[in-house]
Amino acid sequence: MNMDPSRIASFVEAKAAQWDALALDIWEHPEPSLQESRSAALHRDRLASSGFAVTDCPEMPHSFMAESGRGGAVIGIMGEYDALPGMSQACSTERRSLVDGGPGHACGHNLLGVGSLAAAEAVADALRESGLPGRVRYYGCPAEEALGRIPLVRAGRFDDLDAALSWHPADVNTPHRYSTNANVALIIRFAGRASHAAMAPHAGRSALDAAQLMNIGIEFLREHVAPGTLLHYVITDGGRRPNIVPEAAAVSLYVRAPRAGGVRDALKRVLDCARGAALMTGTKASWEVTHGKCDFIPNDAIHDVIAAAMRDIPLPPAAPEERAFAKGLAATVGRKDRESTLAMIGAPTSLLSRPLHRELGDFGRGYRIGGSLDVGDVSYIVPVGQMNAATWPLGIGAHTWQSCAASGSPYAARLARWAGAVLAVTAFRLLSEPELRKAASLEHKASKRPWRSTMDL
Ligand SMILES: [Zn+2]
Repeated sequence: MNMDPSRIASFVEAKAAQWDALALDIWEHPEPSLQESRSAALHRDRLASSGFAVTDCPEMPHSFMAESGRGGAVIGIMGEYDALPGMSQACSTERRSLVDGGPGHACGHNLLGVGSLAAAEAVADALRESGLPGRVRYYGCPAEEALGRIPLVRAGRFDDLDAALSWHPADVNTPHRYSTNANVALIIRFAGRASHAAMAPHAGRSALDAAQLMNIGIEFLREHVAPGTLLHYVITDGGRRPNIVPEAAAVSLYVRAPRAGGVRDALKRVLDCARGAALMTGTKASWEVTHGKCDFIPNDAIHDVIAAAMRDIPLPPAAPEERAFAKGLAATVGRKDRESTLAMIGAPTSLLSRPLHRELGDFGRGYRIGGSLDVGDVSYIVPVGQMNAATWPLGIGAHTWQSCAASGSPYAARLARWAGAVLAVTAFRLLSEPELRKAASLEHKASKRPWRSTMDL
């Protein structure tokens, strides 16, 4: 069964004003992780009124699933809508916050959620129109910047999918062929005994000493962990006053590695450093895992379909003033920094001769970026394809004031719609072409990586 890609693109285009208004509304009302009640409700209510059957997921606040269609295969389209604390920024080429210290959409999730929403509605329409058996399911995935969708994965919400799709706002247009690091985040606490630091130092047991000795242990450990392992920490509690031996201390720590198994291996040795430091100082160590994500397993079979859909749907135009805005924003970041953003995924730095990526790229095969995504855990369960759409200028990284500024622009909203149309075409092809689903599934099975959360020690 074939569906003309331009028909799907026209469906998205016909509701352009609605998607753009929603993306801008969410950008203007940014909500940080686990507080996205308004943003989640906007998505959920919209899908319900478009005829989707909505299921709230009690395992995580502000998460839900919305499904349309009957029988057949089922394709998930994932959306996110959380903002970042402290990143408030006007849609301007100058650093200017809208609310001092307030949150802002510096990762463009206002676009991500809405682009995926447009994709889900377009697939539902194509299914109705064609009479093809099959279902599309939108996943409202909150708190991507914190805990992420791990509780949804743990509850088996993705288990019955044939494939899942997502996209991310970025500086280039490309299928997301690169992997990401796995990580785990934890807080390690030490409990000692307070005493007067001058009158009775012998009576005290310093929790801060333990934290420092553990960190020194980690510094020496750094040389002897598997290549690619990253260890970063900050001391979040080091006591109150120098004249009190600190009875409590805490270190917030991340371990990253190319694979989830590597995170577990390195973490065991980090915890040995904590135990050793506690023994040396006569204190007690304890830890609490706050979040953790598996690496992303790219699925080439799906990424090939995404690449073809990107060619089928023309990139939307950029007005002269939009190019000028992009040029102004790009000029606020040094050339070297802009180059490194592209080099990370193997995109040529020659692209930087223009402010916006106005072509289609196909970058990242065999690359891995340092950061971590909760989509990684889903990619351990089912085949996952993702793409990036150039909603902000070339060489601009996510989580910057520049990416926040760009995410509130009409150009970015137009690119979100384009991404939505590309995902919809990809989803419909997966639903209507069993051989594509089979290729994606065989490739996924060949990776032979059973899921286990990095949060499970
Ligand atoms: Zn993001």
